[in-house]
Amino acid sequence: MKQILWFRRDLRVEDSAILAHAKEEVLPIFIFDKHILKQLPKEDKRITFIYQCVLELKKRLQALKLDLAIFFDEPQNVFKKLKEMGFDEVLCSVDFDAYAKQRDEEIEKIIPLKRYIDAFILNPALHLKKDQTPYKVFTPFYKSLSMISQSKHIDEYKRNENLKKIKFDYSTIPSLAQLGFQKQILPHFLTLNGFELLDAFQTKMSSYEKNRDYFNKDASSKLSVHLRFGLISPKQLFNCIRLSPNNRGEFFIKELFWREFYNYILFHFPKSQESNFNGLKISWNDSEEDFKRWCEGKTGVPIVDAAMIHLNQTGLMHNRLRMVVASFLTKNLFINWKKGEAYFAQKLLDYEASSNIGSWQWCASTGADAAPYFRIFNPYNQSKKFDKEGVFIKSVIKEFEHIDDRVFHIENGVQSNVFITYPKAMVDIKLSRQRAIERFKEAKNELF
Ligand SMILES: Cc1cc2nc3c(=O)[nH]c(=O)nc-3n(C[C@H](O)[C@H](O)[C@H](O)COP(=O)(O)OP(=O)(O)OC[C@H]3O[C@@H](n4cnc5c(N)ncnc54)[C@H](O)[C@@H]3O)c2cc1C
Repeated sequence: MKQILWFRRDLRVEDSAILAHAKEEVLPIFIFDKHILKQLPKEDKRITFIYQCVLELKKRLQALKLDLAIFFDEPQNVFKKLKEMGFDEVLCSVDFDAYAKQRDEEIEKIIPLKRYIDAFILNPALHLKKDQTPYKVFTPFYKSLSMISQSKHIDEYKRNENLKKIKFDYSTIPSLAQLGFQKQILPHFLTLNGFELLDAFQTKMSSYEKNRDYFNKDASSKLSVHLRFGLISPKQLFNCIRLSPNNRGEFFIKELFWREFYNYILFHFPKSQESNFNGLKISWNDSEEDFKRWCEGKTGVPIVDAAMIHLNQTGLMHNRLRMVVASFLTKNLFINWKKGEAYFAQKLLDYEASSNIGSWQWCASTGADAAPYFRIFNPYNQSKKFDKEGVFIKSVIKEFEHIDDRVFHIENGVQSNVFITYPKAMVDIKLSRQRAIERFKEAKNELF
């Protein structure tokens, strides 16, 4: 039996489903998928990061007397060739987003594909309510999982130590330039591995719940990118948190289960990738000009603009800022969440379809377990509460460095400074809030 181990979003050798389930003769591979890469700009930071991770994975497999064959092609072509060469089956981890599902269906027509739950703790197919329907609300979902979430340890996959590498040309490694990308400077934390990040986070764990909402406090784990590409598994993360001496990881564990929840929702309700989960029919504002100003950080609202400029420059955005800019787009500008979701998908280093779609639908009040439509973030109050001295805003918008921070938290406050050129706020916060509430009421009445 000649097996192909297809690494995709599980770029590690520990707690690896495919290395555990493989038998004897294997060909580990990674494919830089031409179909995906051709849609990305050559400055995409994620490709620089994945490229490094793939080379690191190759080294780690070599240390186990295995190796990694690296392809730059469309997966269909790769598997057609490998099938002709006498390979029997492919082992890989499950991916539930629309493109991945369709791609895997195509591959299955070429060669048998065995998929394992690896990027998430829970197998969504196996967890249902008593009436055999899926959960739609986070709290009961989380409570129903207490056997897992309250446990001290979740079993990890044990590698099959008897694997032998199949003779193959493992020497061809396309360069980043051959893939069509320019090497990008990455934020420092991406030079650390998942366990190093976790170590650094241990000291912050006890104040995580209190501090995590402050934009300028380095209070969260920064593990989302590593989780996204499987550099650390959620089970490994869970087990390490449970071992931490102060054992105050409850709140953090709950956040990890939000990630599970959104994956669960996308699995059971794949249409939520495309349409409002709650079925509301909303006449969104289609203005491309309004959307462009939001993307570019030119709304005239300092906290929204700083967050968007920071995202454009770094691929990063703090969780609460994601909520603030998403609320501003979907409620104050009344623009469809799908546009914001697609923009984040292009920019976020930690882009994960399920969390992104679920969180956007939450912010837009169209989701499974969403914010009520009348609870709309006031961006000025948010910056006053979580960035009182304007440290974050000033760190991003250098022109604001010397101005009185109080003006950031007042509508058109910065604009009152005659020495600063800054666009007038696109919308009146109170009026736009009222408009959103009325439109949601209309949509709800039409629904019932
Ligand atoms: C509009 C919007 C879009 C988002 N898009 C993504 C996305 O594409 N990818 C992504 O990983 N997260 C997304 N999130 C969730 C959250 O913002 C990030 O997971 C978090 O900011 C990552 O930073 P961290 O690793 O330091 O998080 P921590 O606070 O340290 O949390 C630990 C881990 O728990 C998970 N987590 C935490 N909060 C959430 C949440 N609300 N939903 C789901 N998982 C969570 C993440 O995997 C995170 O790495 C989005 C949130 C919003 C409001």
